[in-house]
Parts: sequence; C-alpha cells; structure tokens
Amino acid sequence: MLTRQPTLDLADLERPALEAALEARGHPRFHAGQIFRWIYGRGVVDPSAMTDLSRELRAMLAEACTISTPAIMQREKSIDGTEKFLLRLADGRLVESVFIPDTPSMTFCISTQVGCAMACAFCLTGKMGLVRNLSTAEIVGQVRVLADALHLRDARFNIVLMGMGEPLHNYDETMKALRILADEQGFAMSPRRITLSTVGILPALEKLAREPVMPNLAISLHAPTDVQRGALVPINRKYGVADIVEACKRFPLKRRSRITFEYVMLSGVNDRAEDARRLAKLLAGLKSKVNLIPLNAAAGIPFERPSDETVDRFAETLAEHGLTVSVRKSRGRDIRAACGQLIVEGQKRSAGQQLAVMM
Ligand code: SF4
Repeated sequence: MLTRQPTLDLADLERPALEAALEARGHPRFHAGQIFRWIYGRGVVDPSAMTDLSRELRAMLAEACTISTPAIMQREKSIDGTEKFLLRLADGRLVESVFIPDTPSMTFCISTQVGCAMACAFCLTGKMGLVRNLSTAEIVGQVRVLADALHLRDARFNIVLMGMGEPLHNYDETMKALRILADEQGFAMSPRRITLSTVGILPALEKLAREPVMPNLAISLHAPTDVQRGALVPINRKYGVADIVEACKRFPLKRRSRITFEYVMLSGVNDRAEDARRLAKLLAGLKSKVNLIPLNAAAGIPFERPSDETVDRFAETLAEHGLTVSVRKSRGRDIRAACGQLIVEGQKRSAGQQLAVMM
C-alpha cells in the first residue's frame, strides 16, 4: 500500500526549516528565500503563480504542500476607523484581529490563542478559558490576511500581541511567528515595531530576555500591590508584583526603549490617589511608561469605568512622581473591538459555533 507523506504547511515554517524541507525533497535550499518572498512579500499562496521557481518545484509544492491562510468571515468598521476582522481557522475556530489606523501609526492587534487561561477578572476573554493555542501559521496568518485586505503589504505598520490570549503561554509558536515576521525575506519587520503584552509569566519572561528577536515589552500590571493584583490577575499568586518588577529591571532594553506597564483602571478598585503613589514608587528607577486604560465596561464584567476626572488625576499623580504616562483612547467600542471586549457566544469550545471578539 502506498503511504503518502503528510501535507507540509509552508506557513508554519521558518526559513531554515523550509530550506531543510526543500533539501529533503531534492530541491536546493536557496529556493526557501524565493518562496518566503512570494508568501510574505507579495501575498502569493498559489505555487503555480511563483514564476521564478522551476516547474518541478512548483509541481512539488502544489502536490505536497499547503499554505494555510485564515479566511475572512466578516469585517466591521467602527465610526473611528478601527476595523475588526472575524477570521475562520482551518478547524473552524474563529478569532478576531483588529486594525487600528492611527495610534499614531497603523497597528494590527493580533491574537496568540483561542481564549485565554489567565482569567483576568476584567476581561471577557478570560471567561472563555483556553480553547487552544494558535499555530505559527495562524499567528502570522492574521498579519498576512490584514495586510492584504487593507492593501498594506508594502506599508509600515506596527503589531501588538494584545489580542486574545497570553503570548508567553504559547511561547514557542509566538516566538517562531516573530522570527518569520522579522525575517528579511519575510515581512522584514523591525522588532521595534512589534509589542508583546504579557501578564508576566516569569520563566517565559526570563527566556524572552535572551531571544535574538526581541519585541517591545508591555506588562499587564493593573495594580501596585499583590493583594490588589491577585484579585484581578490570578497568576499574580504565582508570580508576584515585586518579582515581575525585578525581572523588568534585568530585562535587556535597547537604547531609548522603555517597558510599558498597562493599567486597566477600575472605578473604586485601583484608581485611588494612594494607588497612583504606590505605582509610582514601584516603578521608580525603571525605564518605563505607564499606559492607563479606562475600563471598557461590558455585560458580565463586574467593574465600572472611572470618571474622566479620576483618570486625569491619577495620570497627574504619576506624572508628578516623574513617570511617563499616557491614557489609551478607547477604539472601536461600537463594534466591540476595544480592549477587553472579547466575548464568546454560543458553545464556547465547539468549532463553528464560536464567536470570539478579541480585546
Ligand atoms: S487580559 Fe489578556 S491575559 Fe488577561 S484574560 Fe484577558 S486576554 Fe488573557
């Protein structure tokens, strides 16, 4: 009986792995760079259109390989220009990616997991639990799909890994995706244009500090003390505030870089003057900036958004203590594409019945 080799997903391979796969099939390794340029540089996924490859290689790619690409199921545009894409993955799971046109640059907000295991108290994604990790092809695929749909393949844009999921909880696939995005034959993105947001899984954070492709780092802090943070971000019971800040002090920063500390503001919970003073003390001496994110209230989230005056006062207190601080403008709230507005409707772990609205 004939045994067929399993189909190889080229979208899941870094260039060295693609070189090895070509060699194993009797083709020169250098074709990997050409294939990368077709897939990532030009958005071509049909091997027959890769005209600088030999006929034999094109036939082999068509026969034995696939280039999996998430399918756009729906696009929604906010009145503020933010655009939300509902994408269907090969197994029927759905994720969403968001395009934010002016932050001040163009930004793609990308997911790394379907659902999330971190269960942050103010985030609807956390209510899903973890459904599954995204593959490298699915993480980079979101970028490919948005770049094509928005005609931005040749434009400069930023990527934030702030969508559904905790990137460091899907470490290997996320890092592989970053290496493909940064590959000079791939998207050739400067890691400076990529920001990874994490709740601070310490062993993974230490590992990240040694990676050759180093994105900007954003820590989802949200509270200055263990008692407060433990109630909001459950993993804080394992990796506490002081340990995270110490790890940030050791984190190798590029010149002029800072670590962003994200702070979702919840009325009456973490928005008092003493919270601001404690936060300023905690971050003293760190190359940091604080991004205040007034809660995007949603049904099922047991917190309220503080008033604009409270947010302004909090920001002023931080600034008076020498911190760089910004207040995140809420984007895409009318289409539920804003931070923390992820929701799952229908049977949450059943393919095809899931609607995920990412943060
Ligand atoms: S805030 Fe981020 S880490 Fe926390 S549950 Fe939501 S997606 Fe996961």
